[in-house]
Amino acid sequence: MAESNVKQTNPFTLQCADIQWQGDNIPTARQFNDIYFSPARGLEETEYVFLHNNDLANRWRSLLNEPGSVFCIGEVGFGTGLNFLASWRLWQHVGPNRGYLHFVSVEKYPLEVADLKRSLSRWASLAPFATQLVNSYPTLAPGYHLLKFDQGRVVLHLLLGDAGQCFEQLSCSSHPALAHHTNHTIDAWFLDGFAPAKNPQAWHDSLFQHIAKLSKPGTTLATFTAAGRVRRALQGLGFAMEKVPGFDNKREMLRGSWSAVRPPHNATQQPAPRIKSSAPWYVLPTRQCGSRHAAIIGAGLAGVTTAYALAQRGWKVTLIDQQAGVAQKASGNPQGIVYTKLSPKPGKLNDFALSSFLYALRYYRQLAEQQRLLPGQYDFCGLLQLVEQNKEQHNFEALQQLLAERPELMQCVDANQASQISGITLEHNAYYYPNTGWVSPVALCQQLSQHQAVSTRFDHRIIALSQATDSKAWTIECEHQSAICADVVVIANSLDAKHFCQSSHLPLKAIRGQITELPSTNTLTALKSVVCHDGYITPATGDRHCIGATFNIADHDTTVRASDHQCNIDSLFRAIPAASFTVDPAAVTGRAGLRCVTPDYLPLVGQLPVYEYFLHDYARLRKDANWPIDTAGRYYDGLYINIGHGSKGLTSSPLCSELLAAIINSEPPPLPRYLRTALNPARFIIRDLIRNKL
Ligand code: SAM
Repeated sequence: MAESNVKQTNPFTLQCADIQWQGDNIPTARQFNDIYFSPARGLEETEYVFLHNNDLANRWRSLLNEPGSVFCIGEVGFGTGLNFLASWRLWQHVGPNRGYLHFVSVEKYPLEVADLKRSLSRWASLAPFATQLVNSYPTLAPGYHLLKFDQGRVVLHLLLGDAGQCFEQLSCSSHPALAHHTNHTIDAWFLDGFAPAKNPQAWHDSLFQHIAKLSKPGTTLATFTAAGRVRRALQGLGFAMEKVPGFDNKREMLRGSWSAVRPPHNATQQPAPRIKSSAPWYVLPTRQCGSRHAAIIGAGLAGVTTAYALAQRGWKVTLIDQQAGVAQKASGNPQGIVYTKLSPKPGKLNDFALSSFLYALRYYRQLAEQQRLLPGQYDFCGLLQLVEQNKEQHNFEALQQLLAERPELMQCVDANQASQISGITLEHNAYYYPNTGWVSPVALCQQLSQHQAVSTRFDHRIIALSQATDSKAWTIECEHQSAICADVVVIANSLDAKHFCQSSHLPLKAIRGQITELPSTNTLTALKSVVCHDGYITPATGDRHCIGATFNIADHDTTVRASDHQCNIDSLFRAIPAASFTVDPAAVTGRAGLRCVTPDYLPLVGQLPVYEYFLHDYARLRKDANWPIDTAGRYYDGLYINIGHGSKGLTSSPLCSELLAAIINSEPPPLPRYLRTALNPARFIIRDLIRNKL
């Protein structure tokens, strides 16, 4: 994953581990001719080498039992997940029950799920943990994958790709002037990337540099190897290293702790790079949390999922909306589809589409398992996206090749197969996403906002936001009610963000959308999956289908129109002639809302920049687009935003809310830096300065 662009031959798949089995279910990697764990006593070896030599049990016992307690492990080589499961089990035994364990592990050649399951079947004592890991194991696509266990108290960040590249993207900046600036650090490292002699790439100096960059005084490290080259390289980067007895018949291993003093920010004499390579405007200030009370403005999908993400982290949340309840505006449709559009071309839009889609599928499945989403409020019935033969054939063929090994993500099917899947006659080839479907946004928002840490204030219209200069607390002024105070404010009120002076500069566009609800027919009752064309149709619930949606740019009217119902009906019948029937206008209902989109169709997620300071600090970009800037951007302390999800809010909100909560909480982020930058709310100021438009 490079800074400016990601050049991968296949953005959807990576090479998996080529496993050879020995004896009693012992996996060996053919790529490296090496074993994943000791055949005789693998679990005990993990516990000794990594857990004991990082002193985890003692450190976890002495952690404060409060929601702010976060402990972060970084690992090179996830492999079978044995180290993760052993850490998780130890955390359950001795970790503070109100603390959070983050386990950030990189893996270049992940095991297929069947191999993972077989490898972990050796340890009956880990079975309850292994089962959960196997059930949540992600689709093996490149990128960051966030997996949550124990109600979010144990978080696995599985970074699929090369260790050096994945860890490089975890840090805040590659800019030399900000090389040591970091918002999140690792407390303990497990270096477990096969033997250095068999796999030098996992022990490369450049990887050690990223490891040092993500460390802080007191960060520890342990590895099974005693190789002198590894010891010297880590010493050179500030780790005090020692040799200690190895496990069983291994003579020695290494452990260490980081004690170097970081140079102050901006102390480096290295020249700043040209802006296009790695400008640091996106580097966020580190924040000290106060009383952990957040106010969220807007109780639609973005606001509610943000409230839930923060509540899960032990924050007290006040969810505010000018409407009388949750999801009353654009998020208020009865059935929303969890939808994405993949492209054969790698790039930011595609990578974000893939990451957010995969996370949304896990998120909704987990909510359904926890019965926070109830039957009738969702259906993971699969989704077909019809392909227009003339326009889309090239992409169809390219995606067919690229996704051949990931049928659980998406399959390219012909019209016959599509008809069988959907239960009605379809005349086009289609992209088939077998694991998605629809969710009721209203039910979702109602369920999530009932978290005990979330209190709601409806019928509250916010007119202004201001911050006290001394305490840094935010005051949220309401039109007819008394003001609300909070440490942190999240603006999640879609297009209405334009009304606050801090966010009025954002280039937001309204797109009107109307959905139509129709009675089912003999043909349409057979519909088993969602079918998307220019619009979409969902399987019937309560004998009615939801079809949609119209698309009118810059139309701010939200009254329901008969002409728009007709547009939806015409579009459906054109795409699926077999669905045609004579519609009784009296039986048609619907609703209209405004989607909020940005010029690049990516949401705005992160801390809010101070517009005037950005104009001042980066003014020279107007004349020189490549001006080598070397100062971090200036952002409002404690003011964040999560808007601009367009028509894909159900898909993008869960991951964006996790990202925002991770930024607020100084945790490892669930997206690589190039995607965090792509979502940063300051990006349009920089773009427009470069274009000399501001
Ligand atoms: N910690 C693992 C466990 O608990 O099962 C065992 C790790 S195994 C000894 C080493 C792992 O490192 C393998 O899964 C291998 O694919 C991975 N690996 C090797 N080189 C890598 C690289 N350059 N980047 C990321 N992962 C790598």
